[in-house]
Amino acid sequence: MTTAAASVTRSAVTRVSKSLKQRAAFGAAVRPTRGVPVTAGRRVLSTRAEADGPVCIVTGASRGIGAAIALALGETGARVVVNYAASAGPAEEVAAKIKAAGGDAIVVQANVGQEEDVKRLFKETMDAFGEVNVVVNNAGITRDGLMMRMKMQQWQEVIDTNLTGVFMMCQEGTKMMGKKKPVKGRIVNIASVVGVTGNAGQANYSAAKAGVIGLTKTIAREYSGRNIVCNAIAPGFIASDMTAELGPEIEKKILTTIPLNRYGQPEEVAGLVKFLALDPAAAYITGQTICIDGGMVM
Ligand code: NAP
Repeated sequence: MTTAAASVTRSAVTRVSKSLKQRAAFGAAVRPTRGVPVTAGRRVLSTRAEADGPVCIVTGASRGIGAAIALALGETGARVVVNYAASAGPAEEVAAKIKAAGGDAIVVQANVGQEEDVKRLFKETMDAFGEVNVVVNNAGITRDGLMMRMKMQQWQEVIDTNLTGVFMMCQEGTKMMGKKKPVKGRIVNIASVVGVTGNAGQANYSAAKAGVIGLTKTIAREYSGRNIVCNAIAPGFIASDMTAELGPEIEKKILTTIPLNRYGQPEEVAGLVKFLALDPAAAYITGQTICIDGGMVM
């Protein structure tokens, strides 16, 4: 076997064994040989392991932090639902990358602020994969402005997407997680440090994110008896389209408030989501809000 082939096989073995551990964490029967072809009496792992890992819905996965989360989960062999609102092309690209990395993926357009879209998102997930193990509520928007000038529409759009959307996704998600016995599931909600600290110019956004933190704690309490854990992540400033809108002048000021003196990367947030969503070691964490912000909030 060439060095390259050996390394591909090694990474396929690692992926399959991670996927098995994660499936075991979700109470699934472990089926080690599925998707593993046998050649001349010798088991040879295919370069694209058949993905049968946990089913993970990631909202707003076409760009930025959500795309990095979807890919990080997909690379472990998870079956990922890549949700988007308008960016069909980028969402398809994320799904293609997940499949190339050994996971499986479907792409579903749905506005998380619309009840019927949320229900359809779960229906398409159940039709494709038959179960839901993880929900990552990442989709979010900003409509910034000082409160004295904030229009009701600015307020409502942000609340609908960033808070009501998370509520509906959690309500429907916990229902679907309850369909397979024994019930198990993990929810990760992407909040923000401004949900903890407040922020001038973001009355709508900080109220929505603070709401997500309260909702997370309530879900953790209501669903602990059903083995569904729910945590929030509060990023500080992360390099994405959302922060690119701020411009270099504001960025300079922001950097003075970050002890690590840089923006975070989407992949850094994705690593934490992967831990909370899939790692067996995270099974005893629930109701928490973890800041990932270069030291802004401590
Ligand atoms: P982004 O680059 O603007 O991407 C937003 C994503 O959300 C896109 O995939 C977008 O889909 C999707 N989306 C927007 N509205 C949606 C809706 N109604 N239904 C479904 N999907 C929708 O944002 P980001 O910076 O990656 O932020 C991701 C999350 O992290 C958000 O919740 C944000 O509040 C939070 N956050 C970000 C930062 C930061 O510094 N970047 C800091 C703290 C918290 P389309 O591509 O189809 O529009």
